Amino acid sequence: MKGLVIKNTGSWYTVKTDDDKTIESKIKGNFRLKGIRSTNPVAVGDRVDIIENQEGTAFITAIDDRRNYIIRKSQNLSKQSHIIAANVDQAFLIVTVNYPHTSTTFIDRFLASAEAYRVPVVLVFNKNDVYSDEELRYQEMMCTLYTQIGYKCVTVSAATGDGIEKLRPMLNGKITLLSGNSGVGKSTLINLIIPDANLRTSEISDAHNTGMHTTTFSEMLPLEGGGYVIDTPGIKGFGTFDIEPEEVCSYFKEIFEFSKGCKFSNCTHTHEPGCAVLKALEDHYISESRYQSYLSMLHDKDECKYREAY
Ligand code: GDP
Ligand code: ZN
Repeated sequence: MKGLVIKNTGSWYTVKTDDDKTIESKIKGNFRLKGIRSTNPVAVGDRVDIIENQEGTAFITAIDDRRNYIIRKSQNLSKQSHIIAANVDQAFLIVTVNYPHTSTTFIDRFLASAEAYRVPVVLVFNKNDVYSDEELRYQEMMCTLYTQIGYKCVTVSAATGDGIEKLRPMLNGKITLLSGNSGVGKSTLINLIIPDANLRTSEISDAHNTGMHTTTFSEMLPLEGGGYVIDTPGIKGFGTFDIEPEEVCSYFKEIFEFSKGCKFSNCTHTHEPGCAVLKALEDHYISESRYQSYLSMLHDKDECKYREAY
């Protein structure tokens, strides 16, 4: 029988079968997932095969190939990874222009890692109820920038409920990862979208972000109209993301388009003559902030720092 893993408590996995039953399952014997050194071989979002037993529970006997996965490296020396979720359809990146300020570097890094895994991202600008005219102008500028690049942008207020109705149809029937810095309003948004989720706000998320509690617990919250939301504090991006410096550019959509006009095929877009990216930057077709994010990732790659950040 086939099913979807919707909850993981460490030793037990809750599987929702294709005929809509919910069965508590365990991993069969020494079944291990090939190729991934992980503390947990099965994660929420995984499609699995199960065999029911006499006790009304089941064994997980196989796992489908993953389209993508979100991973968190453990803080200790073991360097083991914990897979938080698999097969995500899309990500909502919650950003706030202030309280706290979400940096463009943070946004662009997240977008780049999502590009690498071909996960569509929607930018959700939250807290628009508290902003001054100047902050609202900045928010508008950011929306225009990212919309032009090809990302959907939505402005909302989780406090007043303004704009929330725009999110619901986008969530229907999909597995959506909700991500963003601590304090941007992820829990508040989830409580609004799924009233019985009853997530505690701020303090709890902060505790997770310190990395003190390496929790193995994760859950997909079911939506009324079908689909699930995954709330994962402290996630900066997708996968292990081991990429070569030449590849960084291909994860910045608009920079990549311009790079096709560069004179040299191995152009790093930093100093080379005949660089179409530098020309586009000069002509303001590429924004300064996006280019700076590109450079910061490129330099990280040079020093192999980026790899460690995940
Ligand atoms: P999380 O860390 O991303 O889960 O953020 P929380 O949901 O815990 O929210 C952090 C703080 O911001 C809480 O005090 C919320 O009440 C507040 N907050 C969340 N959304 C909004 C909003 O749209 N407007 C305002 N003014 N405050 C908000
Ligand atoms: Zn170039």
